[in-house]
Amino acid sequence: MPKLPPLPSMRTAQPGHVYLVGAGPGDPELLTLRAASLIGQADAVVYDNLVNPAILEQVPANAERIYAGKQRGLHALPQHELNLLLVTLARRGLRVVRLKGGDPYTFGRGGEEAEILHKHGIPFEVVPGITAAAGVAAYTGIPLTHRDHAQACIFVTGHLKDGSMDLDWSGLARPRQTLAIYMGLTGLPHLCQQLMAHGLPADWPAAIVQRGTTHDQRTITGTLATLPERATAAGLRAPTLILVGQVVKLHAHLAWFDEKSQPMEGNHAHIHS
Ligand code: SAH
Repeated sequence: MPKLPPLPSMRTAQPGHVYLVGAGPGDPELLTLRAASLIGQADAVVYDNLVNPAILEQVPANAERIYAGKQRGLHALPQHELNLLLVTLARRGLRVVRLKGGDPYTFGRGGEEAEILHKHGIPFEVVPGITAAAGVAAYTGIPLTHRDHAQACIFVTGHLKDGSMDLDWSGLARPRQTLAIYMGLTGLPHLCQQLMAHGLPADWPAAIVQRGTTHDQRTITGTLATLPERATAAGLRAPTLILVGQVVKLHAHLAWFDEKSQPMEGNHAHIHS
């Protein structure tokens, strides 16, 4: 039998190296084997507010832990300082794990950090993580695609820039596709209004999910017309993901995760808000 290459989890971390690692959407069990292996070998871990504290418990006791922040309107470390911090730590010969919520290359600024590392000649590796849309889809029973309902899924940021959203509304307001909107809580009324103004019917299904895959998960469903009010009434807090499309109807049958369940032992999936 041909000799197989070693399992990724058996590869060891190199010193003077930065690992951009996806920590998944919340549930610590959704960490990849590679991520867990690198976290366990880290000399320094730079993490943001979406990373579950249960995952940080796996960081070796003698490793440096640096909180990099990233909350809406409240950045613990400006991005350029953070970029330089990664370079500085790696130049000290450390195995640096840059731990990010979800997937590093999905609205995670992982691309910007990788470019800086490349520019400074620092060796790096990127470990994908389960992005919020995938985690939320699975744990709410809202498939992102489905042959009967949606042949495409668009990941889009609903982050307001100067009070407005600069999005391709006519491209988004189409049938037979699912929208997965990140960072959209504040902009939800504007978002629903624009989708209707560009042709989607007022009764088009939509859902907003708070802290998917954790014991704080809450799913609010409705339509483009009703969702903003329902979300306000429910008092949802970030992080939330918005899903728009016919697939949202499947939630009624496919939801399996008990949103009111108590956390399992060792799975206290609390996330800083
Ligand atoms: N890199 C991350 C996204 C970072 S942007 C990823 O791949 O998931 C931060 C946004 O992600 C939040 O504003 C929210 O829209 C979404 N998000 C992250 N974790 C989430 C969760 N557990 N539930 C719902 N939305 C989440």
